Amino acid sequence: MKKIKGLVCSKCGKMVDETVMYNCSDCGTEGTLDVIYDMDLVKKELTKEYLLNNDDKNIWRYMPILPLETKEGVAPLQIGWTPLYEAPRLEKAFNIKKVFVKDEGRNPTASFKDRATAVGVAKAIELKKDIMCAASTGNAASSLSGFAACMGIKNYIFVPKNIPEAKLAQLLVFGSNVILVDGDYDTAFDFCLKAVDHFGWYNRSCAINPYLCEGKKTAAFEICEQLGFEVPDKVIMSVGDGCSISSVWKGFKEFYDLGLIDKVPTMVSVQANGSNPVNRTYRRNSREFDYVPPSTIADSISVGVPRNGYKALNALRDSKGITVDVSDDEILSAITELARYTGVFGEPAGVTSFAGLKKLVEQGLIGEDETVVFVVSGSGLKDVKSAQKAVTRPELVKPDMEELIKYLKVN
Ligand SMILES: *Cc1c(COP(=O)(O)O)cnc(C)c1O
Ligand SMILES: [Zn+2]
Repeated sequence: MKKIKGLVCSKCGKMVDETVMYNCSDCGTEGTLDVIYDMDLVKKELTKEYLLNNDDKNIWRYMPILPLETKEGVAPLQIGWTPLYEAPRLEKAFNIKKVFVKDEGRNPTASFKDRATAVGVAKAIELKKDIMCAASTGNAASSLSGFAACMGIKNYIFVPKNIPEAKLAQLLVFGSNVILVDGDYDTAFDFCLKAVDHFGWYNRSCAINPYLCEGKKTAAFEICEQLGFEVPDKVIMSVGDGCSISSVWKGFKEFYDLGLIDKVPTMVSVQANGSNPVNRTYRRNSREFDYVPPSTIADSISVGVPRNGYKALNALRDSKGITVDVSDDEILSAITELARYTGVFGEPAGVTSFAGLKKLVEQGLIGEDETVVFVVSGSGLKDVKSAQKAVTRPELVKPDMEELIKYLKVN
């Protein structure tokens, strides 16, 4: 493709040809690839005027810097251009000038993953691949499931046995072939890789397929545009495998390289303290990931081996990033607090970014005149069981006024 110069390995930096389907041959599955564009060519089309005159309120407005030839495989769903809400009540509570919530729960299958899937499915159609697969803690799975249904693509989905019921229900409703793996996410992931080797399916995994990150980076473009081409000081994200944060960082860098913005933000990586391989490794100033079995209520970021670890480390290094670890209790209280301050209901991994913001505020690490964006990566309706742990179920009340008065007094 003319606009693509090649693919670069996130581990060793080697540039490979666009015909390489998945990873760097020297680094294997650790060598996830980044798409490098011919910026002089992209610049000719992707200008401020182009964007201001573009009526596509979805990720396809960024077509000149997406890895697709045509719109042939573009699903007719509303992908991206999610709301960026200012949160005045949080600004007041936290004493920060500007706080914005990017609500990714508003995507077709209710998570950030839809941005990646949209590009992955379009790419599969461009490459004439008719069977897709994914291994996922839940959201990438339900996302592929929905898009594959929309476009009529057969798909196989490997999920760990602890997948929340709502996400499993999505898969079954959309009609995917589900392989409920007797093991955790890492096990399901490796099992799926073996199946790809055997059957030759097209893999919707951000850790393998270089084109998926290209969908996720559009969130950064949107944030810039929604802020009138101003750039936030900090962008705070929940991190599991590390694909989301590195993709969003790539988006900011590309807009900067195109001359559309004049600075880049500091990326903040928030992980659960029982599943923090990226943060731990970054703080050690190392590039060796040591395996610790993950343990957190936030299933979407419950990761022992970060499959996009090098990309995440690069993003943190290049943006002079910050890491924050939060406990499951902090994640649970973030669910209700975020909802009550902003009207946005996120799943545990979705609000982990917000729990991180709270922690940074408590530690005095955010200045009063900063502009901060945090991404809520998935809807709270994805995992109602966890949300219920953060609240108390009300007692039954008889439909009688006296009973009601009594009840309201004690409550
Ligand atoms: C996948 C996911 C994340 C983490 O993204 P990574 O690319 O794995 O770091 C965060 N939140 C939600 C809701 C997700 O589904
Ligand atoms: Zn490599």
